[in-house]
Formats: sequence, C-alpha cells, structure tokens
Amino acid sequence: MAPAVFKTDEAEDLGLAGSIPVRLRFIFHWAGLCSSSVVDLRRNVPRTDAVLADPRLVTAAERLGRPLVKAAVNQAQERARAGAIAPAQVAESVLEALRALGPLRRVINATGVLLHTNLGRAPLSASAIRAVTTAAGPTDVEFDLETGTRGRRGRGAMAALAAAVPAAEAVHVVNNNAAALVLAATALASGREIVISRGELVEIGDGFRIPDLLVSTGARLREVGTTNRTHLSDYADAIGPGTGFVLKVHPSNFRVEGFTGAVEVDELAGLGVPVVVDIGSGLLEREPSLPGEPAAADVLRAGADLVTASGDKLLGGPQAGLLLGRRDIVERLRRHPLARALRVDKLTLAALEATLRDPAPPVVSALHADPALLAKRAETIAATLRLAGVDAAAVPSLATVGGGGAPGVTLPSAAVSLPFGLAGRLRSHEPAVVGRIENDRLLLDLRAVPPEEDGELLRTVTG
Ligand SMILES: *Cc1c(COP(=O)(O)O)cnc(C)c1O
Repeated sequence: MAPAVFKTDEAEDLGLAGSIPVRLRFIFHWAGLCSSSVVDLRRNVPRTDAVLADPRLVTAAERLGRPLVKAAVNQAQERARAGAIAPAQVAESVLEALRALGPLRRVINATGVLLHTNLGRAPLSASAIRAVTTAAGPTDVEFDLETGTRGRRGRGAMAALAAAVPAAEAVHVVNNNAAALVLAATALASGREIVISRGELVEIGDGFRIPDLLVSTGARLREVGTTNRTHLSDYADAIGPGTGFVLKVHPSNFRVEGFTGAVEVDELAGLGVPVVVDIGSGLLEREPSLPGEPAAADVLRAGADLVTASGDKLLGGPQAGLLLGRRDIVERLRRHPLARALRVDKLTLAALEATLRDPAPPVVSALHADPALLAKRAETIAATLRLAGVDAAAVPSLATVGGGGAPGVTLPSAAVSLPFGLAGRLRSHEPAVVGRIENDRLLLDLRAVPPEEDGELLRTVTG
C-alpha cells in the first residue's frame, strides 16, 4: 500500500486535489472517505477537552501528569486529521500510546519464577523499601552524625555484610556482579591471564558473556580443560608468572550431566595463585532446599581469596555486586580508580543493609513457602472466582528459581488456572498480573505471590 502507487488524477476525480499532500489524498482514498472534505474530517476529530474527559484518560493523567497525556491526545488528533485513524479512535489511540510511557508499573509476579529477570529479579522486603524511602532524601551515607565529620560511605551496609559473612576478612559492594568481575579482572589481571575452565565460559543473558566481559578489561583468558571435564592438572599446567588469578564461575543457568568433572575450590586454593569464585546467586550461607547452589561462606572457608555475587538474586536484595574475601585483595579493589565508576548509590546501600538485617526477604519466603498452604490459597481464590462466574480451577504447579539460580530445580507449587484469553487484560491492569500459559490455560502460580496480595490478585481477575 505504498503511497507511490497513487495517481494524482485519481485524486482529482475524487475531488481531493489542491494542496493536500499526496500521501494524505491516498489515505482518504484508501479509507473510503471519497466524498468527505478535509474540513469535514477535521470537524469530526474530537476536541482536546472532550478526549481528556474520558474517565480512562483522567486516571492516566493522575498517574502520568496532565501535560504528558495532553501531548498524547494532540498527537492522536493529528493522526486522526491525517486520516491515519478514525476520529472515534482518538481516545483508544491515546491509551495505547500511554501504555508504553510513564513510570515502571507494579506487577504481581504469578509466573512461578521466583527471580524473574524481566520483572526485576528480587522484590525488596518491606523494611528495605522503607530504608530506600528514608535514604531518598538527604541522608548520612557519608557523614558521621556523632562527630559532624565525613564518615565512610555506606559503612552500615558494609558492617551488615561483614557480619553476615564472618568468613570474609573484608567486603565491598559495586553496581552488580558483572561490575564485581570487571573490577577484579581490571585490578588483579589487566595485561595478565585469567585461568578459567572451558566448562565455565558462561553467557549470563541478553547476549552478554562472562569471557567477553573479562577480556574487555585487558586481561587475557587462559582456557583450560573441556566443556564437560576439567582436572586440577589442567589448571596447574596453565599457571605461570603471567597468571593474574584462577577464576571459577558457577554454572548458575545451565546444567551439564553425564561424564562430567570440575575442580573444587579447596583444590584450586593449593595452586599458589589467587582464586576468585563467582558464585552468582548471592547465597551467603547454604540454603538446604537448594543443595546445588554454592554459598559464599562455604567457598571462602574452602580457601577462595575473593567471592563475587549478585545482591538481587537469592539474597533477595537490591541490584548489587558483592565482593567478599581477603583484606588485601578487597582493599586493592576498593582503592582502584575504576571502583569509583562502579560504586553503588545511597538507595542501594540502604536497601542492602535492610535486606541483610531482615530475617526473610520475599524471595526467601517464597522459596520456603509450604506447598500445602499454596494449594489452599489457590483453592480459595479459584472457588471465589467460580462464584463470580469465572472458569477457574486450582491446579498443582511447578515453580522455578529463575534469574540464573538453581537450574533444573523445581519447587512444588499451586496455581489458579484460567482461560488464557484473560492474560492480556490482567497484564494491562493496575497492578499488572503476569502469569504463564500452559496447555492453553493461563496459570497464576502463587509461589512468588506474597499471601497478602491474594485479594488484589482476585480483584484483578473479577474487575
Ligand atoms: C547472574 C550472574 C552474573 C551476573 O550478575 P549481575 O548481578 O546480573 O551482573 C554473573 N555470574 C553468574 C554466575 C551469575 O549467575
């Protein structure tokens, strides 16, 4: 339907000649508006005030501010004048345009994936949210209120982290785990070699790969072993005067099964070079329900010199990169010029400290949720929905950790099964509800939904 195929004389036949651009004339023709004049069309376009009075746009203006909504209305009016949409579609078109705008929206995570990368990984605990709110204003992040002088930045968060992992001599926090690796590679191995097993060259997501990340710092990779098996002698043979450190990366988003073999940290610790371990998930202590996930404390006790981890995976805190280990190494990283570019803001420090002092952030509660209680919740919601005439049933379900943690582990769960046609409406609701489609049904898995959100979930489906 390219405008180029339109012939000018055709426009004249239709009485649309004159100053109207060819593209416009074409659209009129295409839209079957041959007998209406431009003036008529303009008259039909609803006035700004009338569009803004649409209750849906009144709500949108409360959320996004009137100027933004008004600008979207004006754009939609322009499109209607140009014939790209019918005048009656203006309000609808504005709503469509606004959907993509505005602040991040609240989502109820009914996917059954505890750490959903697309939904922002770990939700913060109530106390972490309070801490973030407090820290949003002027705060003593780098100030000692007792003496009235400068204080060490984020000392509360650092103290909480050190207390949570006594096996670490020192701790530091950067933007995320990728930043932690970049800092370690830059400070300890730039122009030198990082020895790493071929079985641990991991792609972390969205096309980003740990080997590329490491090489971007000016370090060289010395790959050893094979995809499925790497031996201590492979590492030993590769180590030399050019070695920066040995890196062990936890395969947190895949599993290799069968004829496999990897070298444990305690064996690597005897090689005489620093051993850095990227545990990924951020478990500080071992989690009994996830026996395959390494914990920072264990890895340090096994002899690792430095451990890196994410704050927003199984620790259940804000996005952050945790660095835990030998005092001299952590100090070197902390004083490196790059550390300033990777430092975390006061909101992260506040949330991290609160998370570390909080007994159970939402991710941990979800991990420990009792399957029988989940089933009961699903039955209650489904029964209430059936009374409201919704085709709903409580069904058993399998949840996962997700977000690069505990690959292959499933957690027994329960879900409310609904017609899959409801998915779009639930996503556009406020708060949005995101489930998953399975066998042509929309499943709302309750494991990652805090029980106090059940009422809201229910109202979203009925409303
Ligand atoms: C998730 C993950 C990363 C990346 O961590 P971010 O905090 O997302 O930067 C790196 N390594 C491993 C093993 C991971 O699981």
